[in-house]
Amino acid sequence: PRHPADGTRRHRLGIMGGTFDPIHHGHLVAASEVASRLDLDEVVFVPTGQPWQKAGTKVSPAEHRYLMTVVATASNPRFTVSRVDIDRPGPTYTVDTLRDIRAARPDSELFFITGADALSHILTWKDVEQVWDMAHFVGVTRPGHSLSDLGLGDEISLMEIPAMAISSTDCRRRVSEAQPVWYLVPDGVVQYINKHGLYLAEEEVS
Ligand code: ATP
Ligand code: MG
Repeated sequence: PRHPADGTRRHRLGIMGGTFDPIHHGHLVAASEVASRLDLDEVVFVPTGQPWQKAGTKVSPAEHRYLMTVVATASNPRFTVSRVDIDRPGPTYTVDTLRDIRAARPDSELFFITGADALSHILTWKDVEQVWDMAHFVGVTRPGHSLSDLGLGDEISLMEIPAMAISSTDCRRRVSEAQPVWYLVPDGVVQYINKHGLYLAEEEVS
C-alpha cells in the first residue's frame, strides 16, 4: 500500500534491465516516464551479464556497458546502476535479477520496466510465475512493436510513452558506418564510445 497505517511509505523502486550496448535516450525516456507516472522514488538500471536471448550475437564487454550506463544516468538523482547481473556468472534470467535486487533492497516495492519487444518474449522467461510474485510489471510502447496484440494478462500494466525510434542496434550500425549518434545517446556516451573505439567496423578493430 502507498500509505500504510503507520504513516510510512514503502520505497518504490523501478528496475530497468537491458543489454545497454549502448544505453540510449529511448531507455532513459522510458525510465523517466514510468518513474513520473508511477511515482517511483528510484529507477535502478541493471546491465545484463552474457545475454542469453542474444546468444550468437556479439555483445560488448560488460564493463563497457556498465560504465556507459553509469555515465548516462549520473546526472539524475533518482537513477542508479546495479552490478548484480554482470557480477553473477552465466546468462541473466529475470528471476535471478529480481531475487538479487529484492535481497539488496528488502524494503522496496519493485516495478520491472520492459519494452514492448521484450514483453513479447516474456512467456519464454524462466520461472515466469515466481517472477510475477516478486514485482509489478510495466510494459512500455516502443515504435514498431504494438502493445495491444500481445495477449497478456492482468499481471502487466501497459503504458504509452513518447515514441523514441532509437535502438542500440541502430546506434552500433551508425558508429560502424561513421554516422553520428549525437542526441540519440547522451553526450558522455558518445565520448565514451569514441574514447574506447567501440562499434567500429570489424576490419578497424585491432
Ligand atoms: P538492441 O537493439 O541491441 O536489442 P535495444 O535498443 O533493444 O538494443 P536493450 O538493451 O535490448 O536495447 O533494451 C533494454 C530494454 O529497454 C528492453 O525492455 C527494451 O524493450 C527497452 N527499450 C529499448 N529501446 C526502447 C525505446 N526506444 N523505447 C522504449 N523502450 C525501449
Ligand atoms: Mg533489444
